[in-house]
Amino acid sequence: MAALLSPLGPVSSIMRIVLLGAPGSGKGTQAQRLAQERGMPQISTGDLLRAAVAAGTPLGTRAKAAMDAGRLVEDAIVLGIIAERLGAADVRQGFVLDGFPRNIEQATALDAMLAKLGQPLDAVVLMEVDRTELARRISGRRTCRDCGRVFNVSTAGGSGAPDEACPKEGGPHRLFQRPDDNEHTVAERLKVYEEKTKPLVEFYRGQGLLRAIKAEGSVIEVAKRLDAALGISKRAAVARRHRPPAGALSAPRARNRSTPKRSR
Ligand code: ADP
Repeated sequence: MAALLSPLGPVSSIMRIVLLGAPGSGKGTQAQRLAQERGMPQISTGDLLRAAVAAGTPLGTRAKAAMDAGRLVEDAIVLGIIAERLGAADVRQGFVLDGFPRNIEQATALDAMLAKLGQPLDAVVLMEVDRTELARRISGRRTCRDCGRVFNVSTAGGSGAPDEACPKEGGPHRLFQRPDDNEHTVAERLKVYEEKTKPLVEFYRGQGLLRAIKAEGSVIEVAKRLDAALGISKRAAVARRHRPPAGALSAPRARNRSTPKRSR
């Protein structure tokens, strides 16, 4: 019985989570990891907006000026993008929202959308990081142009990326620095976070959904704290990662494939 207890109540395999935190708090890194381990989509409004900008859509053109200045993109645009994304079939596997909601209006709109879908949030995790550390992380942040993974020059041996092949293109990761990760824009983004996004802490505390973790230390340490806050056991996460698609394999082979690897 005890094994089934978690901060979220009985452990369910479907989770609908919001990661809340300042720019540089590690939301994207942990959201990517959770999505990969649990087979659910990561929904990042920053990524969706950057894709719209890169594609040169009318919406992207409207969003670009605010993004370059470190301000919030107008709610109508962001809510339109989110409504469309939440309508996709993969959302039924649960989801991890990263960078959304970012103000009370967006949070209220999200509640309404999820109520309509009959899929309310399970948890909101606040990732707490000291301001000096935030600035250090943001200045070292690099993203792979091809697979979108995020690395940091201060934690990955100077080059920014570990010695591994890009899962998308096979060659080394091709890293770039986001244009809004410059000193001036970062100061504005941190101010916007304090003014507009921080009030969500009380909003979600009032709904009984808030959990807070210390998000300093290594990616692995933060992952452990986040998983504990969500009631995810490591063994369950590894088993899920190695689980074959339903019906894809015969039973004995499926058992082999789902055997957790020994931890290093
Ligand atoms: P970070 O969390 O490091 O600031 P993101 O990739 O989440 O980075 O966001 C980059 C920029 O995209 C933000 O500064 C803002 O201009 C815009 N943006 C992202 N999400 C939202 C949102 N929910 N509402 C308004 N603007 C957003």
